[in-house]
Amino acid sequence: MHGLMQNWPLTVDKILDHAKRWHGATEVVTRTVEGPVVRSTYGELHARARRLSNVLLGFGIKRGDRVATLAWNTARHMEVWYGAMGIGAVCHTLNPRLFAEQLVYIINHADDRVIFTDLSFVPLLRDLRPRIPSVERIVILTDEHSAQACRKDELIFETLLNEASPNAVWGGFDENTAAGLCYTSGTTGDPKGVLYSHRSNFLHTLSITNADVFSLSARDVVLSVVPMFHANGWGLAFVCPGLGCKLVLPGPKLDGPSIHELLESEKVTFTAGVPTVWQMLLAHLRETRGKLTTLKCIGVGGAAVPDATVRAFRDEFGVQILHAWGMTEISPIGTVSSPTNATASLSAAEQFQVSLSQGRTTMLMDAKLVDDAGERLPHDGKTFGRLMVKGPFVVERYFRDEPTQKRLDGEGFFDTGDVATIDPHGFVKITDRAKDIIKSGGEWISSIDIENLVMAHPKVALAAVIACAHEKWSERPLLIIKLRPGESAAKNDFLAFLEGKIVTWWMPDDVVFVDDLPLGATGKIDKKLIRKQFADYRLPMR
Ligand code: ADP
Repeated sequence: MHGLMQNWPLTVDKILDHAKRWHGATEVVTRTVEGPVVRSTYGELHARARRLSNVLLGFGIKRGDRVATLAWNTARHMEVWYGAMGIGAVCHTLNPRLFAEQLVYIINHADDRVIFTDLSFVPLLRDLRPRIPSVERIVILTDEHSAQACRKDELIFETLLNEASPNAVWGGFDENTAAGLCYTSGTTGDPKGVLYSHRSNFLHTLSITNADVFSLSARDVVLSVVPMFHANGWGLAFVCPGLGCKLVLPGPKLDGPSIHELLESEKVTFTAGVPTVWQMLLAHLRETRGKLTTLKCIGVGGAAVPDATVRAFRDEFGVQILHAWGMTEISPIGTVSSPTNATASLSAAEQFQVSLSQGRTTMLMDAKLVDDAGERLPHDGKTFGRLMVKGPFVVERYFRDEPTQKRLDGEGFFDTGDVATIDPHGFVKITDRAKDIIKSGGEWISSIDIENLVMAHPKVALAAVIACAHEKWSERPLLIIKLRPGESAAKNDFLAFLEGKIVTWWMPDDVVFVDDLPLGATGKIDKKLIRKQFADYRLPMR
């Protein structure tokens, strides 16, 4: 027997409809690519996104066609998301930090028909143009005044919107219709397309609006630092209109001073992004003796947050860091380190350790640990295993995989490629990426743990630990350090600093100083590149 409730397909256009109707005057503030900070509302954003739908229909865009964006976080970018998704087209977010070769590969693989781009990327797209034949039009996200000489096949966003009719019909299709396409940044191989559906985005939105995730409500002001092109923008472009929070979008400027200015001028209460952004903000605040007068919490993920960063924000600025783990393939938020009643009664030191873990699974997300043979491992907080996840916003297979291609295990779990422990309270601790873990004499050494300890050293700006080939132990850790400007140090300073903090056999065999460490397309340290750079490195024999 079926239930007798309304059949209301979970399509994301309904999220913006809701924001328009019930939070229509709530502000959306953008630091534009052109420079000034401009103000809009959910009501205006909705009206403009509808016009954009008509622009797309005028281009002949049909359901399932890919509409790409190469853009920073701005209201215009959100208008393209909703304008495309509302009519059943697929919004494909391109990451401008990728190499040109990767962009060409991704655009061709996705078969994008139109690209909406910020002014900053026009020269790049002109270079790529001869190699991306599926792209019929380029729309520049600006107005006539700011656009430089446009080519014939380049159009201006504001002109198109002005000329478009205001009414468009959204929705009316199956909730399993594709809504968004995001390629993994290729940190661990060729980029792979994750094709989100309306339903998966809707359920992910509901899951992360739970209080135990980021504790957000209509009373919050959210600065979405995580780029909309990185892992589905962590879902914030759906969560904020869904809840009716005021939304602040930082455009291209993610440096410490620019972020600080927006946090203060817009009275931001919550923000989110990868650890490197917060380390830059911290350096700026310390240098200028800056204050954070309204910010309560920062959601940090994408890479492990060093404990020095958590302590600094808590002790110097009274700001809580909520550590989250996720990946493009899981929409992306999988776990968050909010405490439970059980952990709230632990000692302060233990609670701090809990806050440093990646946390517990969000609603609708299941997780397990398995060994290399796929057998389940205990959740005892000690046993390392491959972290496997399952749920309605976890990928089943990648875009253009053969339907028969198996990406899940026999129980329907997806292998995240991460190695983790899970403690008896359900808190996940990511030990490493399976590819980054150091296998020394049959035992595993976590590169993340050593990096985080070293990051607490006052002279260190960035640290990476990689595996180096070793005759006897097969692999041993090499510590690579970028010092803060003006600092000098000796190798032994860091080995002495680690003594007593890690077991002796985890101690790096050598320390190397570098002027810079490469960051990948999502702002994380690019281990693949570092491994390449150090491929010929020989450890001193011990
Ligand atoms: P890419 O794989 O291209 O870097 P993603 O943003 O999808 O792109 O990265 C997901 C990966 O980032 C995870 O599989 C995990 O290895 C790492 N990661 C994400 N959040 C955390 C975290 N809080 N701690 C440690 N690693 C993390």
